[in-house]
Amino acid sequence: MRPLGQGWCPGAYTPMASGDGLLVRLRPRLSRLSLQQGLDICDLAERHGSGVMEVTSKANLQLRGIRQDQYEEILDALLALGVLDETAEIESRHNFVMAPDWEQGSLSQALAEEFYERLHELPELPAKFSFALDLGKIRRLATVSSDIRIEQSKNGDILVSADGAEMGLTVAPSDAITATIKLAHWFSDTGGAVHKRMKAHLKNQILPDRWQIQSRASQDAPLKPGPSDIGFIVGIPLGQTDSESIRQLLLSHTPQAIRLTPWRGLILEGTDTIKTSHFIVNHNDTLLAIHACPGAPYCTSATVETRNLARSLAGQISGILHVSGCSKGCAHPKESDLTLVGENGQFSLIKKGCSWDEPSRHGLSAEEILKAKIVL
Ligand code: SF4
Repeated sequence: MRPLGQGWCPGAYTPMASGDGLLVRLRPRLSRLSLQQGLDICDLAERHGSGVMEVTSKANLQLRGIRQDQYEEILDALLALGVLDETAEIESRHNFVMAPDWEQGSLSQALAEEFYERLHELPELPAKFSFALDLGKIRRLATVSSDIRIEQSKNGDILVSADGAEMGLTVAPSDAITATIKLAHWFSDTGGAVHKRMKAHLKNQILPDRWQIQSRASQDAPLKPGPSDIGFIVGIPLGQTDSESIRQLLLSHTPQAIRLTPWRGLILEGTDTIKTSHFIVNHNDTLLAIHACPGAPYCTSATVETRNLARSLAGQISGILHVSGCSKGCAHPKESDLTLVGENGQFSLIKKGCSWDEPSRHGLSAEEILKAKIVL
């Protein structure tokens, strides 16, 4: 069974103490930062912290190693940059991801902005309860964890759907956010907090028929590194980089803005070609099949280093590899072909399972794993 999480998510107003200092998570609106905001955040990340930066699976930006005595200063600076919600309470409700290839002036942009304006109308929800807006011509977010989705039906209508249900409610564009808020209230009023996520709640509570009118579309096409209509998409190896690498990427390509993606990448708006050796630019890159959490020394729950081992194994494993600092499996809370889990300074190994499943082997060192050249 998956170990329980800590019951809250870090933000900018609620930083999390970690092995390398405070972790400050930014949730930029529209998952977009202007070029200047991006450059200023790089400066702040190294002035007040270690400069290590991460993009999460919810398209948030994390600044690591922020020094405790510098926290108030960086919070003020981020507020002045206009990249934070106005209050801690609004930030805690801002668990929202949108398909990152939205177009300027589109319905997606209008609905996202309406949702931000109406965050205060949501009930109190479990920390990881989240919303997805996926209204482009192609469905992008089917495998991005979310509890309530605004998406297209098979017939091209707008649906508001509960995760775990095969059908959703058809709505007019002007009613989409109202219906989303109502579905969140249904979850709350029917005791969903006990189960934490919508999918788990629907195993215990019947979703009323009025929320199940039309079938959801089935396709899923996540955006991969390479050129796109919006701009060039780069992947961040294992989701972690540093302020200097992002600064160089921005200064050498001067995009109009950058967008964060839930596949741990960035879109450089209006940029057709990329020159970089630090970021992933090819959709066949073997690093894209690997997930690794920060591990030691970044996370206090970890007893092993994760990312160097994961990089060393790139290309050696057929299928998905997950290297997890502990059994919580933050980087990839799903089944993988091979999962290595930190346990008392060594690794246990799970084939075709999740990080919290029963391992088939225990007590492996990183050296033994590399020498064994494990191939599935
Ligand atoms: S999975 Fe990794 S990041 Fe998550 S708690 Fe465990 S060690 Fe920390």
